[in-house]
Amino acid sequence: MEYSKHNIFSQVRGREQWFLVNLLSGEADLLERDVADAVASGSPPPAAYTDAFIEKGYWVESAEERRRYDAAYAAFKGAAAKEEIQLFFLLNYSCNFTCDYCYQSGYDPERAVDRPAAIDSFFKFVDKHFRGLRKYVTLFGGEPLLPGNHEYVAEIIRKLNARALGLAIVTNGYTLLDYLPLLKTAAVREVQVTLDGPPALHNSRRPLGGGLPTFDRIADGIDGLLAAGIPVNLRTVLDRDNIAGLPELARIAKARGWTGHPKFKTQFGRNYELHYCQGNSGRLFDRLSMWEAVVEQAKQHPEVLEYHRPALSISRYLFENNALPSGLFDSCPATKSEWAFDYTGRIYSCTATVGKEGEELGRYWPQETPLSEAAAEWARRDVTTIPQCATCALQLACGGGCGAVAKNRTGAILSPDCRTPRELMELGFDLYQPEREPELSHA
Ligand code: SF4
Ligand code: SF4
Repeated sequence: MEYSKHNIFSQVRGREQWFLVNLLSGEADLLERDVADAVASGSPPPAAYTDAFIEKGYWVESAEERRRYDAAYAAFKGAAAKEEIQLFFLLNYSCNFTCDYCYQSGYDPERAVDRPAAIDSFFKFVDKHFRGLRKYVTLFGGEPLLPGNHEYVAEIIRKLNARALGLAIVTNGYTLLDYLPLLKTAAVREVQVTLDGPPALHNSRRPLGGGLPTFDRIADGIDGLLAAGIPVNLRTVLDRDNIAGLPELARIAKARGWTGHPKFKTQFGRNYELHYCQGNSGRLFDRLSMWEAVVEQAKQHPEVLEYHRPALSISRYLFENNALPSGLFDSCPATKSEWAFDYTGRIYSCTATVGKEGEELGRYWPQETPLSEAAAEWARRDVTTIPQCATCALQLACGGGCGAVAKNRTGAILSPDCRTPRELMELGFDLYQPEREPELSHA
C-alpha cells in the first residue's frame, strides 16, 4: 500500500483544519491536526484510520490505482467524444469600443472581403466536417453586433435556423437593443456581455470610441434580453483597478432584478497578458491573487456571493453537491469542443489563438486547405500527453490548464499551464464551509 498519487492535501486557509481530496477515488475529508500530521508524514496510514483510508483510496496498491485511472480516462474520452462543439465565427476583429486592455487592438486592420461568401463557405464547411455532431455557433469578435453587421447576422441566423442550430453571442452589449428584434428570431443559447463595474468605473475602462460612456445602454440591453427570455452571461474582467467595484456592481445587478433571474448568470475573467504586453501590467492579478481578492470582497460584502459564487477548483461543487466532480483530464477545449473561424477564411483552435500570427491551422475559404499537424497536437493535449502533468498529483483538479497560455510561455502546445487547484481549495474550503457543512466523514 502506498500514498495515492492523486491525493491533494493541505490546510484550509485561516483554520486549524486540513483537507485530503482524491479526485480519482472521489473522496474528500476534513482532518483534525493529529490525523493531518500523520498524513503529512506520508506513509504508512495512521493506524486508527488504516481501513477507512484504504477504502477511500487515499492509500492504494499502485497497480490497482493504475487500473482505476485507465478506466476513468476511458470514461472521460468516451464522454468527450459526445460533447457539444462550440464553433466561434468572427465577422470582424474591429470594435466600436476602445477598452484600455483589449488584446485585439494589437491586430491588423480589417480587410475588405466578401462576407456573405465567407458565411456561406463556413456553413458548407460545418455541414461537411461536423456532420452528425452536436454543435452551435457563437459570434465573436472584435464586436460582432456592430451596426453594419445586421445583414450578416441575419443571414447567419437564417442558416442556423434552417439547420436547427443554436446561437450564442459574445458582445460588448452596446447595440443589444437594436439587435433584439433580430435575436428574437434565433434559438439564442446565451449572450455574453461585459460590465466591468458600476457606471463610472465601467465607463472609464470600456468606453465607446471617442470616450463616450457605455454602461447605461449595455444595462438596458441586458434588461431587454432578460425580458425576452434570452439567457445572459454577464462577465466582469477583473484587475486591481476595478476589484473594489464588485460590491456595487452586485448591488446594481440585484436592484435591476438580474440576480436571481433564472436566465441570468455571471462569470469573472482575469485581465491577463496573452497576446502582447499590456502597457500597465502592474494592475494585473495572477490567477490565485485574483481569487484571493474576490474572496476577500465576498467575505466583506456578502452581496458579491449572491452575484457570483466562484468555483474555487472543486470547492463550490463539493459543498453544494456533497460529492466531488469527475476528474478533469483536460481543461482545454481547443480543437476538441471548440474551434474558431474568421471572416477571412482562416481556422484556429480557439478564441485565444484566433487572429494570432502563426496560429492558423488551415482555411475553409476561399479554398479549403488540409489542417496542419498542429491541429492534431492540440487535439491530443490532455494531462496524459503533457509530460509534466502525467506525474503531477494535481492533474485531475487542474486538467493541464490553457494550451494557449502554455504555448505562449514555452512554445509547445503539449506543455503545462499550471493552475493552482490546491490553493483554490484552501480558499474555497474556508469560504463555503460555514454556509453548509458537507456530510463528510471526519476521519
Ligand atoms: S487554449 Fe486556452 S483559451 Fe483556448 S480553448 Fe484552450 S483553455 Fe481555452
Ligand atoms: S498544468 Fe501543472 S499543475 Fe496542472 S496538472 Fe500539469 S503539471 Fe500539474
